[in-house]
Amino acid sequence: MSDTDGKKPLGLGGAGGRPGQVKQSFSHGRTKNVVVETKRKRVVVPKPGVGSTGGAGTGSTASSGDPAKRPAGISDAEMERRLAALRAAKAREAEDAERRAEEERQREEDRQRRREEIEAKEREDRAREAALRQKAEEEERARREAEEAAKARKAEILSTRSRSTVQQEKAAKAAAPAAAEAAPAAATEEGARGPASMKPAVGPRKTDRERDDRGADRDRGAKGRGGDEGRRAGKLTLTAALDGEGGRTRSLAAMKRKQEKARQKAMGMGHKAEKQVRDVQLPETIVVSELANRMAERAADVVKSLMKMGMMVTMNQTIDADTAEIVIEEFGHRAVRVSDADVEQVIDTVEDKAEDLRPRPPIVTIMGHVDHGKTSLLDAIRKANVVSGEAGGITQHIGAYQVRTESGALISFLDTPGHAAFTSMRARGAQVTDIVVLVVAADDAVMPQTVEAINHAKAAKVPMIVAINKCDKPDANPQKVRTDLLQHEVVVEQMSGDVQDVEVSAKTGKGLDQLLEAIALQAEILELKANPNRAAMGAVIEAKLDVGRGPVATVLVQNGTLKRGDIFVVGEQWGKVRALIDDKGNRVDEAGPSVPVEVLGLNGTPEAGDVLNVVETEAQAREIATYREKAAKDKRAAAGAATTLEQLMAKAKADADVAELPVLVKADVQGSAEAIVQALEKIGNEEVRVRVLHYGVGAITDTDVGLAEASQAPIIGFNVRANASARNSANQKGVEIRYYSIIYDLVDDIKAAASGLLKAEVRENFIGYAQIKEVFKVSGVGKVAGCLVTEGVARRSAGVRLLRDNVVIHEGTLKTLKRFKDEVKEVQSGQECGMAFENYDDIRPGDVIEIFEREEVQRSLT
Ligand code: GDP
Repeated sequence: MSDTDGKKPLGLGGAGGRPGQVKQSFSHGRTKNVVVETKRKRVVVPKPGVGSTGGAGTGSTASSGDPAKRPAGISDAEMERRLAALRAAKAREAEDAERRAEEERQREEDRQRRREEIEAKEREDRAREAALRQKAEEEERARREAEEAAKARKAEILSTRSRSTVQQEKAAKAAAPAAAEAAPAAATEEGARGPASMKPAVGPRKTDRERDDRGADRDRGAKGRGGDEGRRAGKLTLTAALDGEGGRTRSLAAMKRKQEKARQKAMGMGHKAEKQVRDVQLPETIVVSELANRMAERAADVVKSLMKMGMMVTMNQTIDADTAEIVIEEFGHRAVRVSDADVEQVIDTVEDKAEDLRPRPPIVTIMGHVDHGKTSLLDAIRKANVVSGEAGGITQHIGAYQVRTESGALISFLDTPGHAAFTSMRARGAQVTDIVVLVVAADDAVMPQTVEAINHAKAAKVPMIVAINKCDKPDANPQKVRTDLLQHEVVVEQMSGDVQDVEVSAKTGKGLDQLLEAIALQAEILELKANPNRAAMGAVIEAKLDVGRGPVATVLVQNGTLKRGDIFVVGEQWGKVRALIDDKGNRVDEAGPSVPVEVLGLNGTPEAGDVLNVVETEAQAREIATYREKAAKDKRAAAGAATTLEQLMAKAKADADVAELPVLVKADVQGSAEAIVQALEKIGNEEVRVRVLHYGVGAITDTDVGLAEASQAPIIGFNVRANASARNSANQKGVEIRYYSIIYDLVDDIKAAASGLLKAEVRENFIGYAQIKEVFKVSGVGKVAGCLVTEGVARRSAGVRLLRDNVVIHEGTLKTLKRFKDEVKEVQSGQECGMAFENYDDIRPGDVIEIFEREEVQRSLT
């Protein structure tokens, strides 16, 4: 309905003191100014009483236009009014231009303000109106009673001010055609349009500005004089038919509020819908169920949507990011592509707070030269501890163990001595060692591997404790060890340094307790701490494929506590902790910081040095493991693939020059496999090298045999055997399998085999010199040199070189070697002989013949 938003225009009119215009607001927010001239005079006259009331209020107060005036208005002569209107209109036109600008601005402001103000204004209005109404009511009632026609007219006037305007203007035109030249025409048009546009309150006005403005002016004028009525009238008319006046106003306001509410609701709804849009982290590949999870949608719906796209997948299948992105968009979410590496972000890497940290036992690695007693020392410490502390004394070798010192401190020892393991673990990023015990035999002093160990410990910035071993031996000289160490910048306490040194004997057990206490002391200085109350993080120190138990890894927990049932990712593998077994063979429920445990429940065999991290869900664990596997594969491929032509050439050249002995290595534990590979890779020189095609942990299988056959490689089994079918297929395919249990034997054998690939060396042995005295020409033979063997021997089969003035002018073989008339095999020094060269005749007296022999020498790798 074309409810007139009386208040506003009236407000303006009131403010500007301009009469005759009413602004209409339509449901869709459009407004319209309409001239309400009819009432002007009418209104003015009867108004006084009310006018004062209206005057008391603001412009908007006027809006409450007293119906009381109306009766008087009705009684006025139409002609008179119209003429007056025309005059007013004309007069106003002059002012129009300037006013228009101002009005436009005001209107603009008004529109903006309206929404916010509307409620408040309405409330004010209502209050004011109520007050006015109370006053007016009596008059109105009286008026109504008095005039029957009042209602009808009111309805007419109010429902469409414009209509009345039309009529008035038409009349005006008729009455004063000349006077109304311009303005009336406008008025007429306006009026004519008025009913059409206003009543239905639909069609947008197509009028041009001027006309609008003129109309508006007129309207305003009307308002100025009797705006209240005009507006009021509109209101009244609309609602009059239905209910009382109060109801009318309310309903108008209510409608506006309703509209506003509806608009806000619509907007609010829009916001809500926005909120549901999720940013979905999208890696390169994603499992369907995880995708659904991230969108907070049902997996079945996601599957359905994928099926619609023609992809028949289950929730557990993985889809690529492009497909996933389409799905995400379909569900109205936003895809946020994340790099593959981001999957690792779920790993808890938050720094521990100081108050969460608790002291933890130190982790000790024993290093030193071969045969200085590392293994013996580890065994002695362990045995002593087990005997004293553990019932039964059954020990389990899991790669590390814990002992308790007499003073009660716990110490974790890594059971894999030597710096190879230490370094390879470090290289993998798992620096597990807190303290290095450097074993030096007192009867042997510092040796090359001792120096290496010192360097490794220093490189890793790990403090050292020197254990001077074999002190039980009669030729033990601990002092020599101490002085020797000085050369390598290891200054022990006895030499006024800060490195603790303990004299021990793994054999007799002497000094072991002191060693343990020294370690405990060092640990105290280091203030080793960890937070047991967080997701566990640890390092694999050993891993193997156990026949009965599947992949087993010994993990040294570094932070947090590893519990049964924990889901974890370790290197390229993942799993759920099925069981934890400590170094005494006991099943335990959890392992805290610095505790070594065997972990069961892996999906594959990890490698020593791999880091274990507990994560929250299997999906995360799987995702990380898959990512790492792929990354490792890519890295290997990238390393193997020659990218540039130059590299290709270099590789081809290298391959052509170097003979390779390919081998496959299978070992019982990861540590030995790696040690073997390292040892084998050291074999060789620029001509020959050993290439380890593959190495792994566990029995030799058909797959290994297949690979070995393809590469013509032998398989080396270290403390492992081939299973039955692998044995058979190896026999069939002629693949050699060699078993070893001693690493040195293995390395020696491979060295020998690799040596076989070396080309034999041709060595030249000088055997004699001969001086040419004369040159004879012998028919059928050619030139023959009469020589004296000056040094060594001349041999028929030997090679010869002809030297003239110490320059080699020919190299070849002998055609003949004669002593007197006889062909001989050999002529000794000091004897004369005749020699002729094969295919060479340019020999002169004075030339020297050098006689040599070639010898092929089989080389071997050192
Ligand atoms: P590793 O190569 O450093 O592990 O040295 P081992 O522990 O295998 O020891 C090498 C040899 O030294 C073995 O024969 C041991 O019996 C011997 N050995 C180790 N410690 C001692 C010791 O304290 N006293 C004596 N007399 N011999 C020892």
